[in-house]
Amino acid sequence: MTSALLKQEIDREYLTATRGEGVFLYDSTGKRYLDGSSGAMTANIGHGVREVAEIVSRQAGCLAFSYRTQFTNEPAEELARRLTELAPGDLNWAFFVNSGSEGTEYAMRAAVGYWRELGHPGKVKILGRATSYHGMTMGALSMSGHTARRPDYGTLLHSFALGPTVDASRLAYSGEDEVAYGERAAAEFEQTIIEEDPSTIAAVIVEPIVGAAGGVLVPPKGYLTRLREVCDRQDILLILDEVITGMGRTGEWFASSNEEIVPDMLVIGKGLSAGYSPVAGVLIREKVVEAFREHSRVAPFGHTFSGNPLGAAVCLSVIDYIEKNCVLENVRSRGEQLKTGLLELEQKHSRMVAVRGRGLLLGFELSKNASRNGQLRLGVTGASFADVCFREGLLVYPAGIAPRNNAVIVSPPLTISETEVELLIGLLDSALLKIESEDS
Ligand code: PMP
Repeated sequence: MTSALLKQEIDREYLTATRGEGVFLYDSTGKRYLDGSSGAMTANIGHGVREVAEIVSRQAGCLAFSYRTQFTNEPAEELARRLTELAPGDLNWAFFVNSGSEGTEYAMRAAVGYWRELGHPGKVKILGRATSYHGMTMGALSMSGHTARRPDYGTLLHSFALGPTVDASRLAYSGEDEVAYGERAAAEFEQTIIEEDPSTIAAVIVEPIVGAAGGVLVPPKGYLTRLREVCDRQDILLILDEVITGMGRTGEWFASSNEEIVPDMLVIGKGLSAGYSPVAGVLIREKVVEAFREHSRVAPFGHTFSGNPLGAAVCLSVIDYIEKNCVLENVRSRGEQLKTGLLELEQKHSRMVAVRGRGLLLGFELSKNASRNGQLRLGVTGASFADVCFREGLLVYPAGIAPRNNAVIVSPPLTISETEVELLIGLLDSALLKIESEDS
């Protein structure tokens, strides 16, 4: 039978996923896969959770859709209330969209709109960082330092300036003091802002921990606080993209809570619905909403499905599940266990280097130029290693941008158990042995 479904790699034969249960997915032959990446850092409470399925059925039978310019609805109201309670500071407002890309783009439009409302229509640039990803729509890609995904769209994208990549794992090689590194990196970003002219810049957008573009790049301590100060000093909004890191992935509801800063907007997606419905959101600070309220009196426009009751009810049931089952505590303990396991594998396998990350957002790199028996070995990309893992029955997420596309993200569901972490480490060990056997 021919397929009419257009796939990412058009001519590749994809296996069919048919079922999910807990941390496992099954294909149509019945083969089991440990979901060591939660798909794309999304299936945060695992697969086949009955409580969520029941909510979907109940809400769809009661009210699946109402349009946001005609009605508000209870699940969306309650979700906004719960999220703004969890969020730091006066992030007192929530707007819902359908994907992370729409979330970052909404934040972009809201930032430009905020300055326009205040009488600064020239503040339109959004500065991201050199290694970053904020989504595939044109605005989101314009803010992204993703050199692999940008070239196809050339001049359609804005070429906003980019701040420097920040990666604390490099300190192991450079020997620089962590706090000094954070200050230096923030100062370099400020220099870029000054060169670009702050009166033309609406906002800076950063992932608190860089995900797909870098393979889990954790900033040095203090960096986000310094960046918040830079934005305040230069009169620029700070947008945090917590599409991957938000909703518990790092053991806190938001990765930025590690430093007590309040961004002007905080974007969430992926784990918000944990994959049970396409929902993302933007949490917005009081002063931003106030600017719209005082002047044009309307907020930036949304989408047909924004705040639909079905998606909102799903997200509420995911938050309930996380709270009832003490999932954040599990992230911290299983995260420690998994990181220790990865560091042990790093000792054992010369191919594996630079293990890093926080909670259950962990990453490593595949070394490119280590030599065995005096022979220089070829590089292994994250993608080719993910294929080896796939055959072993383990899903991992290939990350990084060519020529540094040798990173791998390990980010299982936040509900993973101790024995399942052991299984994951065992499967990773086998996959590393496989690639190393090809080296010798
Ligand atoms: N921001 C970040 C940090 C992401 O990792 C992604 C997706 N990988 C996005 C935004 C875009 O999200 P989506 O794919 O849901 O549009």
